[in-house]
Amino acid sequence: VPKASRICLGTWAIGAWLWGGADDDNSIATVAAAVDQGVNFIDTAPVYGFGRAEEVVGRALKKIGGRDRLVIATKAGLEWTPDEKVFRNCATKRLQEELEASLQRLQVDTIDLYQVHWPDTQVPIAETAGVMKGFLDSGKVKAIGVSNYSVAQMEEFRKECPLHSNQPPYNLFERGIEADILPFTNQNKITTLAYGAICRGLLSGRMTESTAFPETDLRSFDPKFQAPRYQQYLKAVSDLQQLASERYGKNVLQLAVRWILDQGQTVALWGARRPDQLTPLAQVSGWQLNADDKADIDRILSAAVTDPIGPEFMGSPDRSDPSYNGAHPL
Ligand code: NAP
Repeated sequence: VPKASRICLGTWAIGAWLWGGADDDNSIATVAAAVDQGVNFIDTAPVYGFGRAEEVVGRALKKIGGRDRLVIATKAGLEWTPDEKVFRNCATKRLQEELEASLQRLQVDTIDLYQVHWPDTQVPIAETAGVMKGFLDSGKVKAIGVSNYSVAQMEEFRKECPLHSNQPPYNLFERGIEADILPFTNQNKITTLAYGAICRGLLSGRMTESTAFPETDLRSFDPKFQAPRYQQYLKAVSDLQQLASERYGKNVLQLAVRWILDQGQTVALWGARRPDQLTPLAQVSGWQLNADDKADIDRILSAAVTDPIGPEFMGSPDRSDPSYNGAHPL
């Protein structure tokens, strides 16, 4: 497996589900544009468009060629019904079926990084880890990751299977992992794949008070994008933009991605679905944020966002939750 780039292309929006649709030709061009610009790491999942994102990534890989230059990450452990209700399922049989289905959709023989998408409390972590270890031993999977796991869950997992990465939500506005998860993974040399690196576009600098989203786009009900809280986040973006341009000659998106890369053993997952969205990429490497500026960033955030909210609205339903009725909360 080649060394992965520190920026990883996120393909949730490419699957169209919860992102207001997608254009497959544009999606394929986006994967190609990422690779052209030195991003050799691509993250996808079966649930993104219920197979669609993986299929589109597979088509892109065929078109681009050079599979051995690329690092392909996908996930397992979420199931869906024909009417698109999503739930966690890490049963052994489900994971085994998912691996084969992902290999087929991606049109590859091996998966470079295979991640448990969400912990399923109905299945002991040790059992899930044992199945993942079997995949590693079979050679079909080259490295193992988890996503949305707590420290305790990672500790348990690691007793049965090597753990190479963790994929939590992490960006300037969503910093819950700094309490315990990030120190744990940094200390144990487990790579963090930070998802929502630009906070679903909020940290791109393109959002304004009048930006509207279709009902099928999760941002139409993302609590960060609702007034009056939305205005607080927009104010923070505007202040961060000023800091980025005055002190570094960069824009807020580049600052947001750089900030993630400066937090330890991290990779920033950058969701994009059009090639032009990757234009700012070139300006993310070759510089670093200094400690004083990081402290100023924190001051900007606490002054502007007085009523912060986390990314919990995206949580996939846990079957042990008494209120769980099979429906995705989104
Ligand atoms: P994100 O990377 O924070 O934001 C992606 C969105 O930002 C894009 O769809 C695009 O929205 C906008 N954007 C991107 N580049 C832009 C640019 N240059 N200018 C303006 N807007 C730009 O959010 P994300 O896609 O949710 O997270 C990244 C990846 O993390 C996902 O694709 C997925 O691979 C992974 N993820 C994993 C989990 C998990 O549970 N493990 C959960 C969420 C995400 P528009 O196209 O609408 O403008």
